[in-house]
Parts: sequence; C-alpha cells; structure tokens
Amino acid sequence: MDLKIFDRMESEVRGYIRSFPVIFKQARGSILIDEDDKQYIDFFSGAGTLNYGHNNPVFKAKVIEYLDTDGLIHGLDMATTAKKNFLETVDRVLFKPRGWNYTLQFTGPTGTNAVEAALKLARQVKGRQNVISFTHGFHGVSGGSLAVTANSKFRNAAGVSLANTTFMPFDGYMGPDINTMAYLERMLDDPSSGLDHPAAVIVETVQGEGGVNVATWRWLKELEKLCRRHDMLLIVDDIQVGCGRTGNFFSFESAGIQPDIITLSKSLSGFGLPMSLVLMKPELDIWKPGAHSGTFRGNNLAFVTAAQALDTYWSDGAFSEEIQRKEGLVRDWLENLVHSYPMAGLSVRGRGLIQGLITSADDDVAAQVAKKAFGYGLVIETSGAHDEVLKVLPALTIEDDLLSRGLEIIERSVAEVLAEKGVSAHVLKFGGRAR
Ligand SMILES: *Cc1c(COP(=O)(O)O)cnc(C)c1O
Repeated sequence: MDLKIFDRMESEVRGYIRSFPVIFKQARGSILIDEDDKQYIDFFSGAGTLNYGHNNPVFKAKVIEYLDTDGLIHGLDMATTAKKNFLETVDRVLFKPRGWNYTLQFTGPTGTNAVEAALKLARQVKGRQNVISFTHGFHGVSGGSLAVTANSKFRNAAGVSLANTTFMPFDGYMGPDINTMAYLERMLDDPSSGLDHPAAVIVETVQGEGGVNVATWRWLKELEKLCRRHDMLLIVDDIQVGCGRTGNFFSFESAGIQPDIITLSKSLSGFGLPMSLVLMKPELDIWKPGAHSGTFRGNNLAFVTAAQALDTYWSDGAFSEEIQRKEGLVRDWLENLVHSYPMAGLSVRGRGLIQGLITSADDDVAAQVAKKAFGYGLVIETSGAHDEVLKVLPALTIEDDLLSRGLEIIERSVAEVLAEKGVSAHVLKFGGRAR
C-alpha cells in the first residue's frame, strides 16, 4: 500500500501508522478494512476509545438523526438540549443507582485536558503543589499531565523540567511479596522523609500504557485510607480503564472506594468522538466562573452518543455480566497459552477486557508477536516499559466468534515467534482447554 504521502507530509512524530502500515478506509464493529479490502480484527480499540466497537449502529443512527435536525454541533459551554439530556442520563444511569453525588466539569476534548483540570483543582483546593503519582503511570503529554507521567520517552520530549510530582512505587512494583503502600505510608508519616505534603494522589487502577499493571482492591483501599488520613485528594484517572473496560462502568467500584476526583475520556462518547469529563465531589468545586476555559468543552455530537451509550449498555447489569464472561474466555485462552510454553517465561495479568500477555523484558517477543499478528489480520499493540506486554484490548461488544479468531491469531503468532527462538511447546499442548 502506498504510504508515500504520509511519509512526505506528516511529521516523524507519527506513531501507530508505523505499527500498522496500511491505509484503513472503513470500520464496523470489531473489523477494520484497508484500501485493498483486507479485513483486520481489532484488538486495540483505539487504545480503549472504542469500547462499543466502530460505528456502533445504535449510536450512528442517533448521530444521523441529530445532524438531520440541525442540532448544535458547537456551543462553547452554553446550555444545549444535547447537554441537558446527557446530564439527565448521567444522573439517572450512573449516579442515582449508586447513591453518588458528583459535580461535572466539561473540559477540552482530550484526556489530558481532564487530567490538567483535575490537578489544577486539587492544588487550588489544598493550597499545595506536590502531587503523588506512580511508577509506570500514564496521564497524558501536556505540561501538568506529563509531569505525573512516568515514561522517560514522553518526559524527555518536554524540553523543560517537570516539577511538583513525587513518584511512588505502584502495587507490585517491588515484586509480589512487598506491599508498596507500606513504603508510601512510612514516607507520609515521617516528617523528615523529605516528601513535601502532597495535595493529591493520582492513580490508574489498571495501568493501561504502563504494562497492564493491576492494583489490588486492598491496595486501593489502603491508598484511600492514607489519602483521608493525610488530607490528600484521591484522583482516579479512569480515562482508559473506565467506561466498562474492567467490567463495571467505573474501574474502582469493586474496591468500594470513593475517589474525590475522577477523570473520564476515551470511550466516554462511545463513538470515538472526543469528549472528556472531570467528576468532583461537590464541596471541591471552588472554581471561579470561567477560570478554566477551552473552546471545545461542548462537543454536542459526543453528548448525544455518550448519553445513548449509557442508556443502551449501562441501565442494567447485563452488559457487566457479558464483559465478565468474555474476560473468562480471554483469560482461559491466554493461561493455556502460557502453560503450553513453560520454558518461555510468559504470564498473564489484567482485569476485565484489558489483559496482558507478559513476555520477558530482554527480548522483543511481544513486539514480534504483534507484528506477525498484524500480518495475519489482527490489530494489537504492546505496552510496558520495554514494550514487553502484548495488550489484549478488544471492544467490549466483540462477537465471540471474532474474539476466538483473534485469540487464535495470537496463539499462532506466539507459536511461530517462539519457534524461531527455539522454544517449543509442551507436549500436552492445549490439552486442558475445552472449546
Ligand atoms: C490516554 C490516556 C490519557 C490521555 O488522554 P489523551 O486523550 O491522549 O490526552 C490520560 N490518562 C490515561 C490513563 C490514558 O490512558
């Protein structure tokens, strides 16, 4: 496929086009189609932006209807019918059943805009500058968000010092036997630890970009307690693993914690349209009118699809159960794969429909598998500090048949890459699997 125009005109900064060097022309559900009419199964979902698949027909019908009646597309942050309907839907579908009370702040359309607003607000409320973030955390690449993002590739591009953040070890960072929360607790309790009293802690419950690192419920509960005890705000960045990715609409629900601030974006609109949101406890809302602005805080088309997504998928528990069932399928498959190659040092971790196949950090098995898989018609990415994690991120709505076909491609690609490296399968290959 001729990518010359992209090579000639587009900046070297382009990224995913390099992993998937074809020209995509159409997409439906979990299928992408390139200009040669080759089909690909999507196990990447726009990095978690397409939880309900591409061009979801229910949302598409709403978009067409809205455009047809000349509904507002742009309205700064003025009141519109689409926004009113979205607010009512959030209250009815998300807040009322949970007995929650959060105030909504609409920010600029990308995830990093929501993170910037959350950090600004936390610092204003507490009158302190420092924020705690975690190893391997990813929160966006604009100034404030980049300062709390751990990856040196992104940090080194900043060109300025990224201050006012202290990184602490995420759950499991020192291995399974060390509770990193004890370290954070000691640092906070000791007035001579050198740690400036933080305004807030920002955390992902499952680190999407950082390598599918999963925080246990217990660790998150302890973090919340520590935040209360030390007068710090708890910010959960649910941009990638919220909106149902881990089974419930919010990723932290099973932990029984109540964050002070929540950021949402990626799959919030449901349709791939840019839209971001900050949820804050009402008493934190000390913003002065217009003090934090942005031209694109009212993507009304996104409000239409976002409200529809909540109505269609989240007004009862059926979709959650469906996600958990698919999690079981993916987990079983990947664990069988791991057991088939006991000498390859593979393992699995994840929660809901974000699952990582972890390969050894000092070779590039994951990257080679992703590349091979693409050749066989599967779009899948790697993550982690050494790109050592193959990140399985299908749409939550994916059909079982496509899910199995995608997993078969992973299986075949892993087998081939390992064979090239001289690692063969265990004799009882896939013996235990029922399918
Ligand atoms: C993607 C992501 C962001 C940044 O969102 P952008 O839309 O890329 O600015 C922030 N936090 C998390 C957890 C993310 O996955």
